[in-house]
Amino acid sequence: MEFNIALLKGDGIGPEIVDSAVRILEKTAAKFGHRFNFTSYLIGGCAIDEVGVPLPEETVKGCLASDSVLLGAVGGYKWDGLPGDIRPEKALLGIRSALGLYTNLRPAKLYPALRSASPLKDEIVSRGFDIVIVRELTGGIYFGDRGYREGKYGQEAFDTEAYSVTEIERIGRVAFETAMKRNKKLCSIDKANVLESSRLWRKTMHALAEEYPEVEYSDMFVDNAAMQLVRDPCQFDVIVTSNMFGDILSDEASQITGSIGMLPSASLGAAKRGMYEPIHGSAPDIAGQDKADPIATILSAAMMLRYSLGLEKEADCIEAAVDKVLDAGWRTADIAGDTGTVPLSCSEMTKKIEEVI
Ligand code: NAD
Repeated sequence: MEFNIALLKGDGIGPEIVDSAVRILEKTAAKFGHRFNFTSYLIGGCAIDEVGVPLPEETVKGCLASDSVLLGAVGGYKWDGLPGDIRPEKALLGIRSALGLYTNLRPAKLYPALRSASPLKDEIVSRGFDIVIVRELTGGIYFGDRGYREGKYGQEAFDTEAYSVTEIERIGRVAFETAMKRNKKLCSIDKANVLESSRLWRKTMHALAEEYPEVEYSDMFVDNAAMQLVRDPCQFDVIVTSNMFGDILSDEASQITGSIGMLPSASLGAAKRGMYEPIHGSAPDIAGQDKADPIATILSAAMMLRYSLGLEKEADCIEAAVDKVLDAGWRTADIAGDTGTVPLSCSEMTKKIEEVI
C-alpha cells in the first residue's frame, strides 16, 4: 500500500528524532511491501525564522492533503521572548484545530526493563502499569473566553472553562471504545465537587456508560487522581479527562514511567488522519548533539501505522523491536540511569531498532 505522510520536524531535537522515525518507517515499509511518501513542512521557530509565522498556510494545506502527520517538537530559547501569538507553541494549537483533532491518546507504560528508572518505590512499580490517557484537546479553558477586566482588586485576568454535551460525548465515546479494545476499564476524572462544567462532564459520561455495560466505569476527582497515580498507578487502565486536567495528569503519568524520551502520543479527530508526536518538547539543551532518545517518536510512528493507516501488524513489529532492544540492555543517555551502560547516541539506537525490524 502507498501513503503520503507529512513531516513536521520543528525545532531543537525535532529534526533528529523525526529522521530516526523515518528510517524505521522506511525499513518497515520495505519489510511489508509498502511505500511511504514523505513531505516536510515548516512549523514552530524554524517557520518564524523562514517565513515570519509559526504555522504557515502551506503547512496546514500539506497536512490536510496527507494521510497522516508526524511531528517532532517546536520551541526553543531563541523564540522565548516573542509575544504569545507568534510563539512557536502557538502553532501546535493551530494545527490541532485546523486538522480537527479533538482527542489526544497518551499511553504511559512502564517497561519492565526500565523499572529502575521510575521514581516510584519498587513495591509500587513491581506491579507494573500500562495506562492510556484520553485527553480532550480542542475545548475547555485553553480555548474558552479570556481577557482582562477591572475586578474587585483592580485589573484582573480571566480564562473560562466551558464544555458542551457534544464535546463531552465525542471524547467520551473515544474513551469507551478505547477501553473496549483493552481491559474494559475506564475512569473519568473531573472536579465535579466544585466546577459546573465538571458536573455536566460527569452527567454526560454516566449517560454514555449505560451504552457500554461491559466497561467497568468509575469517576474520580482530579486532586485524588493526582495522588492515586503515584500511590497505585496499576489501578488505572484507560483514563478520560478534560484538556487542562489531561495536560497535567499525562505529564505526571509520563514521569512515573521513568523517561520522557520514550512516550508517544496520538492526536485524532473524526477523519482517519491523525497527528503523531512524542510527548516531550524540543529539548534545546541537547539539540544537534545526537544524544536524543528517538524511541518516543518511533513509537509515535507505530501509533500512526495502527490508528491512521490501518497497518496493525507493522505497528506491532516496530513496538516489538523497541521491546527487544531494551530487553537486550541498550540505552540512550536519558534511560541509562546508574546501570553503568555506555549510552547509545540517537542514531545508534535507531540503528539497533532498524536491525531488529
Ligand atoms: P523538554 O521536554 O523539551 O525537555 C525537558 C528535559 O527532558 C530536558 O532536559 C531534555 O533534554 C529532556 N528530554 C526531552 N526529550 C528528550 C529525548 N527525546 N531524549 C532525551 N532527553 C530528552 O521540555 P522543556 O525543556 O520544558 O521545553 C523545551 C522547549 O520545548 C520549550 O520551548 C517548550 O515550549 C517546547 N515544548 C514543545 C512541545 C511540543 O512541541 N509538543 C512540548 C513541550 C515543550
